[in-house]
Amino acid sequence: MCKNCEKKPVIVISTKPFCKSCFFKYFERKFNKTISKFKLIGSNERIGVALSGGKDSLTLLYLLNKLKSKKRFTIEALLIDEGIKGYRDKTIKDAKKFCKEFGVKLNIISFKKEMGFPLDHLVKKLNLKPCSICGVFRRYLINKYSRKLNFDKIATGHNLDDEVQSILMNQFRNNPEVSARLGPLTGIKDNQKFIRRIKPLYLLTEKEITTYAYIRKFNLKFDECPYNTEAYRISVREFINNFEQKYPGTKHAIMKSFLELLPSLKKKYKSKSEIRSCKKCKEPCSQEICQACEIKNKL
Ligand code: SF4
Ligand code: ZN
Ligand code: ZN
Repeated sequence: MCKNCEKKPVIVISTKPFCKSCFFKYFERKFNKTISKFKLIGSNERIGVALSGGKDSLTLLYLLNKLKSKKRFTIEALLIDEGIKGYRDKTIKDAKKFCKEFGVKLNIISFKKEMGFPLDHLVKKLNLKPCSICGVFRRYLINKYSRKLNFDKIATGHNLDDEVQSILMNQFRNNPEVSARLGPLTGIKDNQKFIRRIKPLYLLTEKEITTYAYIRKFNLKFDECPYNTEAYRISVREFINNFEQKYPGTKHAIMKSFLELLPSLKKKYKSKSEIRSCKKCKEPCSQEICQACEIKNKL
């Protein structure tokens, strides 16, 4: 029975059962608390929501839309169409339907139009891992268009599981400098060229988000990107999930101790490199030529 009201439970969180309405309250309170605790959104800000059409980003859009008038900010969605046949075309349909239903403006930017080719073509032509090409181009386009669309910040659907996996991957590979770039709010303050990123689902787990999206009846197709072959991350995910099952509370413990260390990590690895403009495309970068133009050069 639910821990609060003895109704039928829909989920068990840290050994405590929750009914539907108590779970919604718990979930939305945690989401709102994450935003205020980490000061993710200021009033009158224009927030871009990076939308993929999956459960995380739809939940994110739904909750930000619900909160916007109370906290006095505005939102618009930004979807990057990488050009992955049989996968992205389906999620674009769901994203369009969702945005229409909730009256949120949707901006769609495609690899094909912006970078010359869809990812399916780039993967065949370049001797690089699909996720490496995709990650560089996506980050590039999200930053470029967040600036063009005058967003103060861009919100992404990263959840607690994603972050804990990244923390451990960096730990296992001795990459503390990469971990220093994690956290609920990233980017450089008062820098017009790079738009800061926020992760309002930071303290919510994959299981909680999946349950929330399912009960709210959002799209729940569990299609995975066909290029998703990040074997290392998959192994780390399995490892943590097994550990969590055996020792409940492990994921939250990793996150809590990381948040305590994060300010020192950020201080130690504060970027010293000057931000320049790419010689080819004029977008901000730390080298002479940005990573996106480097990849384009290889074509
Ligand atoms: Fe891009 Fe890799 Fe994610 Fe697919 S799994 S969308 S290729 S980053
Ligand atoms: Zn209840
Ligand atoms: Zn460039």
